[in-house]
Amino acid sequence: MSLQYVSTRSAARLGGFQEVLLEGLAPDGGLAVPEAIPRWSAETISGLSGLAYADLAARVVHAFADDIAPDTLLRLARGAYTEAKFGSAAIAPVTPLGEESGSVLALLELSNGPTLAFKDMAMQMLGQLFEHVLTAQGKTLNILGATSGDTGSAAEYAMRDKKAVAVFMLSPQGRMSAFQRAQMYSLQEPNIHNLTVPGAFDDCQDMVKAVSADLDFKSRMRIGTVNSINWARITAQVVYYFAGYFQAVRVFGLRYGDPVDFSVPSGNFGNILSGHVARSMGLPIGQLVVATNENNVLDEFFKTGRYRPRGTAETFLTSSPSMDISKASNFERYVYDLVGRDPQRLSALWRSLAEQGEFVLPEADRSVAVAATGMVSGCSRHANRLDTIRDLAHRYGRVIDPHTADGVYVARQYLRKGVPMLCLETALPAKFEETILEALGRPAPRPPGLAALETLPQRVQAISQDVAALKALIEIEALRAVAA
Ligand SMILES: *Cc1c(COP(=O)(O)O)cnc(C)c1O
Repeated sequence: MSLQYVSTRSAARLGGFQEVLLEGLAPDGGLAVPEAIPRWSAETISGLSGLAYADLAARVVHAFADDIAPDTLLRLARGAYTEAKFGSAAIAPVTPLGEESGSVLALLELSNGPTLAFKDMAMQMLGQLFEHVLTAQGKTLNILGATSGDTGSAAEYAMRDKKAVAVFMLSPQGRMSAFQRAQMYSLQEPNIHNLTVPGAFDDCQDMVKAVSADLDFKSRMRIGTVNSINWARITAQVVYYFAGYFQAVRVFGLRYGDPVDFSVPSGNFGNILSGHVARSMGLPIGQLVVATNENNVLDEFFKTGRYRPRGTAETFLTSSPSMDISKASNFERYVYDLVGRDPQRLSALWRSLAEQGEFVLPEADRSVAVAATGMVSGCSRHANRLDTIRDLAHRYGRVIDPHTADGVYVARQYLRKGVPMLCLETALPAKFEETILEALGRPAPRPPGLAALETLPQRVQAISQDVAALKALIEIEALRAVAA
């Protein structure tokens, strides 16, 4: 039988990978996780080190999606990870910066895809998986989502040429940068629907939740999501930890088995959870550095064992906006592992969260269980971000984006002699021009081909905060798509 998925909050079986592909949330409110994380031997892992990125992706994804044939996954991965889309054969290249405190600081570049942020790494594969599974079942899917920038554009660029899928993406009117708006709204494909809503991101998110809460509408209109709890996204992100490790071994002259540390700018905890999964599979990752910005709920947890998510009113708007999250949805999957994958213990913690607004992990669990996962943490503020951007530009001639800067800033607190530190580059600086201008006094370099992005014609529709009207719009567009 294929690898089965269960909920973090009960032992209920949710099915195989294809069943959880379209739905990350279990009916009991928990999240889908594999019944057991596949563990690979050192021989198996080191045997993969010579593979091209797409071929490596097919192997890693198959460990979690053994209900899809290996040669099918290979075809899908080769469609997702092309040099044309990601700018290099390596797809996620490691770029050394320099030696510091006896370690080597390097970037693992994840932002060379179509929308210049690491979300492309997972979303391109998700688009391929959706199209394959839906076409095989003779079905279509309407993806409904809310975005404050990076997720929406990555989803749209991944789905724009997919016949079985339409995207309805809500974005807050006037809250995104001109670059981010142009990137999304310039798409002209008829299956991509950009809808702006007066208000903030949370208002958009509330409308999505309201539509999804109408279970009859949801199943009749085949509404799906691509949000960060989607397990397929987590799986696709595991791949670049392997690719980064293998490159570090080659570039820095290590032997297989030597530890490599990774630093991850974190918001919804999806990216670093993928690192945790890679480490659990047996990849010799040393430390996993959780870097937060001023929204430092996770840093507080790792330092004290106390987890107290904050509300929207207590969430700061910062210059690393994709990390402005005070309730990291994927954190539940990590805590599930900390409590020995025991759904009852997990449920008890989440009950305390609902009743008291927080939980405290017993000290024994925290010191032993957290240490066993290699996770350490730190918090970076606006001034740290600017200093780090300036420092890397002067010292190494490399301009990084504000999120990556948070990662580098915190990484520097955890450098170890003889252990390379790979800082995940989660966006290109061109996406966050204002902050780069503030740090360096000059704009960020733009990748070729995007110089005139803001002058392209835009296709976007303004809607009101009206859930019934949104549902009607989806229904009309779905009928139109069938007629076309
Ligand atoms: C989404 C995002 C993050 C946060 O990643 P999570 O998986 O939510 O922790 C960090 N940086 C950038 C640029 C992002 O787009």
